[in-house]
Amino acid sequence: MGEHSIVEIADALNSGISVKDVTFIAGTVYKARDLSSVYEPVMLPSYEEILKDKEVFARSFYTQYVNTDPFTAKCLVESYESGDYVVQNVPAKPLTQSEMDRVYALSYMRDYHPCYKEQGGIPAIEELKFSLTSNRGCFGGCNFCALTFHQGRMIQTRSHESIVSEATLLTWDPEFKGYINDVGGPTANFRHTSCEKQNTRGVCLNKQCLFPKPCSNLKVDHTDYLSLLKKLRELPKVKKVFIRSGIRFDYLIEDKDDTFMKELCENHVSGQLKVAPEHISDAVLSMMGKPENAVYEKFIARYKKTNEEVGKKQFVVPYLMSSHPGSTMKEAVALAEYLRDIGYMPEQVQDFYPTPSTVSTCMYYTGIDPRTMKPVYVPKSPHEKAMQRALIQYRNPKNYNLVVEALTLANRTDLIGYDKLCLIRPNYMDKDKFGSKPSETGKNSVRKGSGRGTANSGNVRGTANSGNVRGTANQADGKEKNGSSKGSKGARGGFGSKTGRSAQSSELNRFEGRKAENKNSGKKIRNTHKKK
Ligand code: SF4
Repeated sequence: MGEHSIVEIADALNSGISVKDVTFIAGTVYKARDLSSVYEPVMLPSYEEILKDKEVFARSFYTQYVNTDPFTAKCLVESYESGDYVVQNVPAKPLTQSEMDRVYALSYMRDYHPCYKEQGGIPAIEELKFSLTSNRGCFGGCNFCALTFHQGRMIQTRSHESIVSEATLLTWDPEFKGYINDVGGPTANFRHTSCEKQNTRGVCLNKQCLFPKPCSNLKVDHTDYLSLLKKLRELPKVKKVFIRSGIRFDYLIEDKDDTFMKELCENHVSGQLKVAPEHISDAVLSMMGKPENAVYEKFIARYKKTNEEVGKKQFVVPYLMSSHPGSTMKEAVALAEYLRDIGYMPEQVQDFYPTPSTVSTCMYYTGIDPRTMKPVYVPKSPHEKAMQRALIQYRNPKNYNLVVEALTLANRTDLIGYDKLCLIRPNYMDKDKFGSKPSETGKNSVRKGSGRGTANSGNVRGTANSGNVRGTANQADGKEKNGSSKGSKGARGGFGSKTGRSAQSSELNRFEGRKAENKNSGKKIRNTHKKK
């Protein structure tokens, strides 16, 4: 994250080296006129070549991608027509634990900059102020995440002593109410490197630790994290220690020991656990570098069972992403059907947008998967993205027209109608096309009035006369309702506000029950609802 590079630059300048000669520091990039002092450079295609040809860009990206490990990466060079070169030195070495401790022991203000005061402050501070960073790095390797470039795949951790001493400091804050909001990092339950060999030889270049299946060398062990959480729970004035950073469920379920799952449910979930399956289509998940949906389902079953065992009624809040490369309208509809089956509509939808230095962004720009150099479908136009996003919130009346258009495009108008498995009801004008309400034809399978919406989910409601969609007062519109969780450490929102939390909770309460009900009844009916 730059600490080594910053200190080395400062030392070099301090010792009188001219800034133009500070070209040897790991983790930095510089402009050069010749390469005589560059050791074993890997020449990337020139800037002009990557501008002309997207395939060349994808190859160049992949070379950069496999050169992010500080133990094995080479110096990369890109040339320019002007005769200049951009030279990227090898990445800086990860911080040791004692270095991590020193960084986190600095005397931070633990507040937002006073310049924000006039504008009412930063709501996220409430969440962040009482959260603890325990690690850096992630070996999860999701393709849409730039963390591999920023922090690397090697996990770096703070010692228990360092974290406990910061926690003690928090408990002295007059605003501390006894709750530590988070103990985590990019992934909360990563507290050590994914295997031993990388400590001396780096991580594998052409192999991921968790994708497509967990590597046979993967070390799955939550002992250290459990012990840390226990120490924090036992601190005076601490009532609860929550985990809100997000856990890697595919790693968790590889743990043969149930203790972490049990303690997680018993002590560290505040009603809802946030996890990030991101999608349910295996085709899209494979483009995301995420495990297949069956792994998520397995986790959900285990989470549910553990909660029953410890006597808690707690739920999972799944993060989902629309329009990721690989997601055609067919996959977007499949996701909507999944949400229908579990009876849940997320308040927020994360629409994929390209960010620098990710495999997914390379796919987005080039239409090529740089890992295989095969073409990949990319939903790009704002309208198509809006349709895919709307499908995730198909119950929101604002999305009605987009959902109709999306279902028509996907050849899935069988999902418009009065049947239990339909996502939306027909517009009055289309009544002839989609049939009449069963009550008008003598059938009785339609529940009067409302669909499956809930108090805050933006119901799709039909009225006897119009067959149209109507919203409820508290519709979800994809906007973050809870200011306090905005911008929290790596989090993509949450349910910090009381209203949001309780409403969400009641929805989640219901969807677990409906999931089973819908799945059973759905199996029979779905056969008649296959793509026409
Ligand atoms: S050996 Fe396996 S766990 Fe270790 S770095 Fe390679 S892929 Fe990851």
